[in-house]
This record gives sequence, structure tokens and C-alpha cells, in this order.
Amino acid sequence: TAKENGSSQYQFYDAVSDQSSLEQIMLENDLEQAIDNNQLKLVYQPKFDIRTGLIIGYEALIRWYHPILGEIPPLSFIPLAEKSGMIIALEQWVLRTACLQSKQWQCEGYDAVPIAVNVSPIHLMKPDIYETIIRTLKELDFDPTLLEIEITESAMMHNEDHVIDILGKLKESGISVSMDDFGTGYSSLSYLHNLPIGCLKIDRSFIRKITIDKDSRAIAEMIISMAKQLGLKIIAEGVETEEQVALLREWKCYNVQGFYYSRPLSPENAIHSRVS
Ligand code: C2E
Ligand code: MG
Ligand code: MG
Ligand code: MG
Repeated sequence: TAKENGSSQYQFYDAVSDQSSLEQIMLENDLEQAIDNNQLKLVYQPKFDIRTGLIIGYEALIRWYHPILGEIPPLSFIPLAEKSGMIIALEQWVLRTACLQSKQWQCEGYDAVPIAVNVSPIHLMKPDIYETIIRTLKELDFDPTLLEIEITESAMMHNEDHVIDILGKLKESGISVSMDDFGTGYSSLSYLHNLPIGCLKIDRSFIRKITIDKDSRAIAEMIISMAKQLGLKIIAEGVETEEQVALLREWKCYNVQGFYYSRPLSPENAIHSRVS
């Protein structure tokens, strides 16, 4: 649950594990209506360069405001959406909404920075995912080099060849791909250099412990130096303290995301926090 993850100070409603199957079915049903009923929103967490303090990109994160249950965190309903197949429609909505938001910011005169969306392994397995993404970008007249896709290591476990093919095509079209939550999966480090990805996001679970636990520190430092040797970009997730920032700076890991700099924000607040 959210509480056990330490991911929130609130005790959120956990749709997946705390519910009987009847209630799950009802919730699944509600989720199908959620897009049409305007219950889904995106919040945007900035990514920063600690050397300049400037925002270098945003990550779009989904929120579901259920009329009765209130806010349901993504980690509770994404698995449900994956199980029912809803994840595909849901993430198509996310992609479209995030791109439209980014375009609107550009119209308002803000410098364009990349916007990242999370893509589920289930969605990644869809045979026409590449075509659908490209069609959406064309339709919206959105610059592919301003789109970033975050996938998790578990995507590799489904059908590695298919995933490599898709990622390769995305890269060719200018879209960048990041490996999210890096270090938590079962990936062997050796396959990384064969993957058409541009960036590793070091998982929050390591960053949380770099200032207190010698092993986590060693792992994080090793991931950073490996990423550099492979020519990959690197960003630290879940940065919460000044001490963590200091260590990351020492390791020349200058890109960060985390509550120390900013929580995920509404579109209005996200753009007003821009320095430039
Ligand atoms: P993620 O993609 O790894 O996103 C980072 C999560 O960590 C976000 O939680 C963010 O609010 C939280 N976070 C960021 N900085 C800090 C920090 O300093 N401290 C702490 N404690 N937490 C921090 P959120 O928004 O609850 O999202 C959780 C996960 O839900 C995401 O993890 C992602 O895997 C998934 N998710 C969200 N939107 C989507 C989506 O559109 N599609 C898919 N497939 N998954 C999504
Ligand atoms: Mg992510
Ligand atoms: Mg992440
Ligand atoms: Mg994470």
C-alpha cells in the first residue's frame, strides 16, 4: 500500500489490494468512465539541473479524482488498468493531454523543454504502439524531440525483441526513451548497451539511502559511472535533501527530480515555477 511504500504521508485508498473482487469490478467500471467524466488529471513534476537551478523537463503523472473515494494514487489503479486493458486508452489520453499542455506552454512564450510520459509494459506490447504515437504527434503537430517516454525494466521481460524494435523506431523518430526506476528490476547490466535508450533514472529507493547506507551509496555511484561510460544520460529520482544533492553533485550527476526541488504540480503552478 501507499503507506508501506513510504510514498505518501496520507493513507490513500488502495484499490487493488484492499478490495473484494466485486468492488474491484465496480472500480474497473468507474475507471472506464473516468476519462469521459473528466476525473483524470495530469500533474507535472519538473526535472532540474542542479548547476543552474533551471527546469530541464517535466514528467506527466496521472491523478484520478474519484467522486466518492476521492484521490486514488496511480500505484493503486494502474495495475487495475493494466489488468483490464484500459491502460492503453488511458495512456493515449495521457500522451495527448501532456503534448497539448506542452504546446500551450510554448504558445504562452515559455521555452520548450521535453515532456515525459510513463508507458506501461502492457501498452508497449501493443503491436501498433509506435504508429499510434507517431499519428498522435502528427495530429497535434508536436515536435517528437520534445517527447520522452519512460519505461520500466519489467518491459524487457515480456518480449525483448519486440521492445527493442519499438524503442529503436522511437529513437529514430527523435523521441527519447528513459529507463525508469533503474536498479529495482532484474535487468542484467550487460544488456543495457544494446538497448536504444538515452537515459537512466536511478530509482528513489537508492537515492533515499545514499547518505545513510554505504551499500546504497556504492550502488548509486556505480550506476552513475556506468551510465556515463555507456554514454547514457542519468537523472536521480526522489531527491529530498540537501545532503543528497551534495553527494550527487560530487558524483557529477547534475540532473535531479524530487521533492527537494519540486513536487508534482498542477499545470498552472508547474509553469509559474519556471525561472526562465
Ligand atoms: P514514477 O514514474 O517513478 O514517478 C515518480 C513517482 O515518485 C511519482 O509518484 C512522484 O510523485 C514520486 N516522487 C517524486 N519525487 C519524490 C520524492 O522526492 N519523494 C517521494 N517520496 N516521492 C517522489 P506518483 O505520481 O504517485 O506516481 C507513482 C507511479 O505511478 C509512477 O512512478 C509511475 O510508475 C506510475 N504512473 C503515473 N502516471 C502513469 C501513467 O500515465 N502511466 C503509467 N504506466 N504509470 C504511471
Ligand atoms: Mg516515471
Ligand atoms: Mg520513476
Ligand atoms: Mg519510481
